[in-house]
Amino acid sequence: MNLLTRRQALRTTFLAGTTLFISTSLTRALAQAAAPTGPFKLPPLGYAYDALEPFIDARTMEIHYTKHHAAYVNNLNKAVADYPELQKMTVEQLVSNLDKVPEKVRTAVRNNAGGDYNHTLFWKTLKKDSAPLSEGPLMEALGRLFPDEDTGKQEFLTKALSVFGSGWVWLSVNKNNDIVLETTPNQDTPLANGNKPLFGLDVWEHAYYLKYQNRRNEYVQACMSVINWPYLEDRFEKLTA
Ligand code: MN
Repeated sequence: MNLLTRRQALRTTFLAGTTLFISTSLTRALAQAAAPTGPFKLPPLGYAYDALEPFIDARTMEIHYTKHHAAYVNNLNKAVADYPELQKMTVEQLVSNLDKVPEKVRTAVRNNAGGDYNHTLFWKTLKKDSAPLSEGPLMEALGRLFPDEDTGKQEFLTKALSVFGSGWVWLSVNKNNDIVLETTPNQDTPLANGNKPLFGLDVWEHAYYLKYQNRRNEYVQACMSVINWPYLEDRFEKLTA
Protein backbone atom coordinates (compact mmCIF):
# COMPACT_ATOMS: atom_id res chain seq x y z
CA MET A 1 0.00 0.00 0.00
CA ASN A 2 1.58 3.27 -1.00
CA LEU A 3 1.29 6.38 1.08
CA LEU A 4 -1.53 7.90 -0.94
CA THR A 5 -3.65 4.75 -0.75
CA ARG A 6 -3.09 4.49 3.02
CA ARG A 7 -4.11 8.10 3.47
CA GLN A 8 -7.25 7.53 1.42
CA ALA A 9 -8.07 4.43 3.45
CA LEU A 10 -7.73 6.41 6.68
CA ARG A 11 -9.90 9.15 5.34
CA THR A 12 -12.51 6.63 4.26
CA THR A 13 -12.56 5.11 7.75
CA PHE A 14 -12.87 8.57 9.30
CA LEU A 15 -15.67 9.58 6.95
CA ALA A 16 -17.54 6.33 7.58
CA GLY A 17 -17.57 7.22 11.26
CA THR A 18 -18.85 10.73 10.66
CA THR A 19 -21.45 9.81 8.06
CA LEU A 20 -23.78 8.42 10.73
CA PHE A 21 -23.40 11.62 12.76
CA ILE A 22 -23.99 13.86 9.74
CA SER A 23 -27.02 11.95 8.54
CA THR A 24 -28.56 11.99 12.02
CA SER A 25 -28.04 15.74 12.27
CA LEU A 26 -29.44 16.26 8.80
CA THR A 27 -32.50 14.15 9.55
CA ARG A 28 -33.11 16.13 12.70
CA ALA A 29 -32.74 19.44 10.87
CA LEU A 30 -35.16 18.37 8.15
CA ALA A 31 -37.69 17.21 10.74
CA GLN A 32 -37.45 20.60 12.44
CA ALA A 33 -37.93 22.38 9.14
CA ALA A 34 -41.05 20.34 8.48
CA ALA A 35 -42.48 20.85 11.96
CA PRO A 36 -40.95 23.96 13.49
CA THR A 37 -40.83 24.12 17.23
CA GLY A 38 -42.84 26.85 18.83
CA PRO A 39 -46.11 27.41 20.60
CA PHE A 40 -48.14 28.22 17.50
CA LYS A 41 -49.38 25.45 15.21
CA LEU A 42 -51.01 25.43 11.81
CA PRO A 43 -54.63 24.50 12.57
CA PRO A 44 -56.34 21.83 10.46
CA LEU A 45 -57.97 23.10 7.29
CA GLY A 46 -61.08 21.09 8.07
CA TYR A 47 -61.81 19.95 4.52
CA ALA A 48 -60.13 18.67 1.36
CA TYR A 49 -58.27 21.07 -0.93
CA ASP A 50 -60.90 20.51 -3.64
CA ALA A 51 -63.89 20.94 -1.31
CA LEU A 52 -64.69 24.39 -2.68
CA GLU A 53 -64.23 23.59 -6.39
CA PRO A 54 -64.95 25.16 -8.78
CA PHE A 55 -65.31 28.41 -6.81
CA ILE A 56 -61.88 28.07 -5.22
CA ASP A 57 -59.63 25.59 -7.03
CA ALA A 58 -57.74 22.81 -5.24
CA ARG A 59 -54.27 24.01 -6.28
CA THR A 60 -54.87 27.51 -4.93
CA MET A 61 -56.31 26.08 -1.72
CA GLU A 62 -53.33 23.75 -1.23
CA ILE A 63 -50.73 26.47 -1.79
CA HIS A 64 -52.68 29.04 0.21
CA TYR A 65 -52.95 26.73 3.22
CA THR A 66 -49.68 24.73 3.14
CA LYS A 67 -47.42 27.58 1.99
CA HIS A 68 -48.93 30.96 2.84
CA HIS A 69 -50.83 30.18 6.04
CA ALA A 70 -48.06 27.85 7.22
CA ALA A 71 -45.47 30.59 6.64
CA TYR A 72 -47.37 33.00 8.89
CA VAL A 73 -47.37 30.40 11.67
CA ASN A 74 -43.67 29.59 11.19
CA ASN A 75 -42.69 33.25 11.13
CA LEU A 76 -44.80 33.97 14.22
CA ASN A 77 -42.91 31.23 16.07
CA LYS A 78 -39.63 32.81 14.99
CA ALA A 79 -40.79 36.27 16.08
CA VAL A 80 -41.69 35.14 19.62
CA ALA A 81 -38.71 32.77 20.04
CA ASP A 82 -36.98 35.09 22.53
CA TYR A 83 -40.15 36.26 24.29
CA PRO A 84 -41.61 33.66 26.72
CA GLU A 85 -44.39 36.08 27.71
CA LEU A 86 -45.57 36.29 24.09
CA GLN A 87 -45.40 32.50 23.68
CA LYS A 88 -48.04 32.15 26.41
CA MET A 89 -50.54 34.38 24.61
CA THR A 90 -53.10 33.24 22.06
CA VAL A 91 -52.97 34.57 18.52
CA GLU A 92 -56.15 36.55 19.22
CA GLN A 93 -54.58 38.09 22.34
CA LEU A 94 -51.48 39.04 20.36
CA VAL A 95 -53.34 40.86 17.58
CA SER A 96 -55.68 42.53 20.09
CA ASN A 97 -52.80 43.85 22.21
CA LEU A 98 -50.08 44.85 19.77
CA ASP A 99 -49.16 47.81 21.99
CA LYS A 100 -47.94 45.30 24.60
CA VAL A 101 -45.69 43.51 22.10
CA PRO A 102 -42.04 44.66 22.30
CA GLU A 103 -41.30 47.13 19.53
CA LYS A 104 -38.46 44.99 18.15
CA VAL A 105 -40.88 42.23 17.06
CA ARG A 106 -44.14 44.20 16.87
CA THR A 107 -44.27 44.39 13.07
CA ALA A 108 -43.44 40.70 12.69
CA VAL A 109 -46.13 39.76 15.24
CA ARG A 110 -48.65 42.13 13.67
CA ASN A 111 -48.14 40.61 10.21
CA ASN A 112 -47.77 36.95 11.16
CA ALA A 113 -50.17 36.59 14.09
CA GLY A 114 -52.59 38.58 11.94
CA GLY A 115 -51.98 36.25 9.02
CA ASP A 116 -52.58 33.19 11.17
CA TYR A 117 -55.71 34.62 12.81
CA ASN A 118 -57.25 35.85 9.55
CA HIS A 119 -56.68 32.62 7.62
CA THR A 120 -57.87 30.37 10.45
CA LEU A 121 -61.16 32.27 10.47
CA PHE A 122 -61.36 32.42 6.67
CA TRP A 123 -61.22 28.62 6.27
CA LYS A 124 -64.01 28.14 8.80
CA THR A 125 -66.37 30.57 7.09
CA LEU A 126 -66.35 28.80 3.71
CA LYS A 127 -68.48 25.80 2.73
CA LYS A 128 -69.92 24.60 -0.53
CA ASP A 129 -73.67 23.92 -0.68
CA SER A 130 -74.14 25.58 2.69
CA ALA A 131 -77.63 26.15 4.04
CA PRO A 132 -78.75 29.71 3.21
CA LEU A 133 -78.92 32.53 5.73
CA SER A 134 -81.95 31.82 7.88
CA GLU A 135 -84.18 34.15 9.84
CA GLY A 136 -82.61 35.22 13.11
CA PRO A 137 -80.27 37.75 14.72
CA LEU A 138 -77.70 37.70 11.90
CA MET A 139 -80.29 38.23 9.18
CA GLU A 140 -81.78 41.08 11.22
CA ALA A 141 -78.38 42.70 11.77
CA LEU A 142 -77.48 42.43 8.09
CA GLY A 143 -80.90 43.90 7.29
CA ARG A 144 -80.01 46.99 9.32
CA LEU A 145 -76.81 47.41 7.29
CA PHE A 146 -78.11 46.56 3.81
CA PRO A 147 -81.61 47.22 2.41
CA ASP A 148 -81.69 43.86 0.63
CA GLU A 149 -79.50 40.89 -0.28
CA ASP A 150 -78.52 42.08 -3.76
CA THR A 151 -77.49 45.50 -2.49
CA GLY A 152 -75.52 43.83 0.31
CA LYS A 153 -73.60 41.66 -2.14
CA GLN A 154 -72.91 44.63 -4.39
CA GLU A 155 -71.67 46.79 -1.51
CA PHE A 156 -69.46 43.96 -0.25
CA LEU A 157 -68.00 43.50 -3.74
CA THR A 158 -67.39 47.24 -4.16
CA LYS A 159 -65.65 47.36 -0.78
CA ALA A 160 -63.50 44.34 -1.71
CA LEU A 161 -62.49 46.00 -4.97
CA SER A 162 -61.57 49.18 -3.07
CA VAL A 163 -58.68 47.44 -1.30
CA PHE A 164 -55.53 48.77 -2.98
CA GLY A 165 -52.85 46.09 -2.95
CA SER A 166 -53.17 43.33 -0.38
CA GLY A 167 -55.73 43.16 2.39
CA TRP A 168 -59.06 41.94 3.62
CA VAL A 169 -62.71 42.98 3.47
CA TRP A 170 -64.72 42.33 6.60
CA LEU A 171 -68.13 42.07 8.13
CA SER A 172 -67.28 42.95 11.73
CA VAL A 173 -69.27 43.46 14.91
CA ASN A 174 -68.73 46.83 16.59
CA LYS A 175 -69.17 47.82 20.23
CA ASN A 176 -72.91 48.37 19.71
CA ASN A 177 -73.27 44.83 18.30
CA ASP A 178 -73.99 46.31 14.88
CA ILE A 179 -72.38 44.80 11.80
CA VAL A 180 -69.99 47.07 9.92
CA LEU A 181 -68.43 46.65 6.48
CA GLU A 182 -64.73 47.52 6.58
CA THR A 183 -61.35 46.74 5.08
CA THR A 184 -57.88 46.24 6.53
CA PRO A 185 -54.53 46.42 4.74
CA ASN A 186 -52.02 43.55 4.70
CA GLN A 187 -52.77 41.11 7.53
CA ASP A 188 -54.23 43.65 9.94
CA THR A 189 -57.36 42.48 11.72
CA PRO A 190 -60.44 44.41 12.93
CA LEU A 191 -59.48 43.27 16.45
CA ALA A 192 -56.69 45.85 16.50
CA ASN A 193 -59.38 48.57 16.24
CA GLY A 194 -61.73 46.99 18.76
CA ASN A 195 -64.14 45.35 16.31
CA LYS A 196 -64.84 41.63 16.32
CA PRO A 197 -64.42 39.87 12.95
CA LEU A 198 -67.46 37.92 11.80
CA PHE A 199 -66.40 37.20 8.21
CA GLY A 200 -63.23 38.20 6.43
CA LEU A 201 -62.45 37.71 2.78
CA ASP A 202 -58.82 37.48 1.71
CA VAL A 203 -58.22 39.72 -1.31
CA TRP A 204 -54.46 39.18 -1.54
CA GLU A 205 -53.56 38.08 -5.07
CA HIS A 206 -52.22 34.79 -3.66
CA ALA A 207 -55.84 33.92 -2.83
CA TYR A 208 -57.03 33.97 -6.42
CA TYR A 209 -54.31 34.61 -9.01
CA LEU A 210 -53.88 31.01 -10.28
CA LYS A 211 -57.53 30.72 -11.26
CA TYR A 212 -58.77 34.28 -11.65
CA GLN A 213 -55.55 36.20 -12.48
CA ASN A 214 -56.45 39.90 -12.19
CA ARG A 215 -60.21 39.32 -11.99
CA ARG A 216 -60.70 39.96 -8.29
CA ASN A 217 -64.39 40.69 -8.87
CA GLU A 218 -65.00 37.13 -10.14
CA TYR A 219 -63.12 35.68 -7.18
CA VAL A 220 -65.10 37.75 -4.66
CA GLN A 221 -68.38 36.76 -6.28
CA ALA A 222 -67.30 33.10 -6.24
CA CYS A 223 -66.49 33.34 -2.52
CA MET A 224 -69.91 34.81 -1.83
CA SER A 225 -71.32 31.54 -3.24
CA VAL A 226 -69.54 29.43 -0.62
CA ILE A 227 -70.24 31.28 2.62
CA ASN A 228 -70.93 28.96 5.55
CA TRP A 229 -74.04 30.77 6.79
CA PRO A 230 -74.84 28.46 9.72
CA TYR A 231 -71.28 29.01 10.99
CA LEU A 232 -71.69 32.80 10.68
CA GLU A 233 -75.07 32.69 12.44
CA ASP A 234 -73.54 30.77 15.33
CA ARG A 235 -70.48 33.03 15.44
CA PHE A 236 -72.61 36.19 15.40
CA GLU A 237 -74.61 34.98 18.40
CA LYS A 238 -71.40 34.26 20.30
CA LEU A 239 -69.80 37.61 19.39
CA THR A 240 -72.89 39.54 20.50
CA ALA A 241 -73.68 37.49 23.63
MN1 MN B 1 -54.11 34.58 2.20
